[in-house]
Amino acid sequence: MADSSAVSEKTALGPRQFDLDRCVHCGLCLNACPTYRELGLEMDSPRGRIYQMVQVAEGAPIAPSYVEHISLCLACRGCESVCPSGVRYGRMVEDARAEIEAHIRRGWFARRLRRFVFGRLLESRAALTFVGTILYLYEASGIKALVRAMGFLKMLGRLGDIAQLAPSAEPPFFFSQIGRTFPAEGRRERRVAFLAGCIANISFARLSEATVRVLQRNGCEVVVPEGLGCCGALHVHAGLPEDARRLARRNIDTVLAGGFDAVVTNAAGCGSTLKEYGDLLEHDPEYAGRAREFSALVRDITEFLDQKGLNPAMGPVDAIVTYQDSCHLAHGQRVRQAPRKLLAAIPGLSFKEMPASDICCGSAGIYNVVENEMSMRILAKKMESVNSTGAAIVATANPGCMLQLQAGVRLHGTGQRVMHVVELLDLAYRAK
Ligand code: SF4
Ligand code: SF4
Repeated sequence: MADSSAVSEKTALGPRQFDLDRCVHCGLCLNACPTYRELGLEMDSPRGRIYQMVQVAEGAPIAPSYVEHISLCLACRGCESVCPSGVRYGRMVEDARAEIEAHIRRGWFARRLRRFVFGRLLESRAALTFVGTILYLYEASGIKALVRAMGFLKMLGRLGDIAQLAPSAEPPFFFSQIGRTFPAEGRRERRVAFLAGCIANISFARLSEATVRVLQRNGCEVVVPEGLGCCGALHVHAGLPEDARRLARRNIDTVLAGGFDAVVTNAAGCGSTLKEYGDLLEHDPEYAGRAREFSALVRDITEFLDQKGLNPAMGPVDAIVTYQDSCHLAHGQRVRQAPRKLLAAIPGLSFKEMPASDICCGSAGIYNVVENEMSMRILAKKMESVNSTGAAIVATANPGCMLQLQAGVRLHGTGQRVMHVVELLDLAYRAK
């Protein structure tokens, strides 16, 4: 979290005036907001945050309280889905964070850590492989299990809660597949680029492999292009749009040179950012048009399979399954029915809708680390909804949500398994 003790003067950054003007203060968004539902405070609601953004746009200083209220926002965009005025809240909070980032004074260590994570780690195959290897050794040596069994994490308090959320390493890492082309099974109907991403290469390697298999089963030649990497979503959410633009330009160049029918991702958070490259690069005369061309090709894997028509040759998956909407799929991309339709197409699967499935689980990128207390409160509520369904499997469509829900199952669950929709499809195809 930012060092909010620093108050500084503002410059011409921040949310665009026509975005601010769209809010008519009706309050219809309040009940869709997880932080308002938890705290009941206007200043931690969408309407209250927009009011504060307006104050800052009119000349108020960037005060510590403003930084705190904006930091506590999950950027889940639940408010956008219900807003009758079409307020583009997600873009506004990103702009507000970029403005805060330009003015906040951080300590030496925090500055270096952010520079390393956002400027090096997420983009470097070698650095991610190194971190993944350390994580793997920590688990494979039994130290992780011992630490948990001895209750060390509980003794660490909040730090222990954060450690619970750390992803596992899944060797062999998916980096080894980058640059490869996987042929379609049967007749080739589409040629798609698969976004392997950044952290997913080490922590969701099996999910990526399952995604490639499912695409192959559905008549797709799948290319994992060398130059298609980190999408920049975490950079945008952290108020670092220039870093995100640099990554976006590289991804655009790679895809537009490749002649693909689609760019497919299994990470809703990445897909949402990829689809908004047009906004990110709107003031770049060289890339604005190319960004829109790129974004028009982007599809979430569930959306892609639903639009294309799913290969029905599946075996049974006999389980009760519930579904947690990933915010950046349901609210960011407005894709709600596709994952449900895919699940319903799996023979033997019994689907049980959970209450408030489109309220955030508290994951929200690195929110569960930087705002851990609120994240855990929201997760506890989410698990009440999950438990009420009696489902044995919680499906979702975003790796970040999977990590959060896995922690939720450990803390409050009844032994449920957390799976991506694609993993369930893969299971069904292998059962045939
Ligand atoms: S953001 Fe939309 S729903 Fe919320 S108060 Fe403003 S106009 Fe109303
Ligand atoms: S993005 Fe989510 S947390 Fe932030 S104001 Fe909107 S609903 Fe609330």
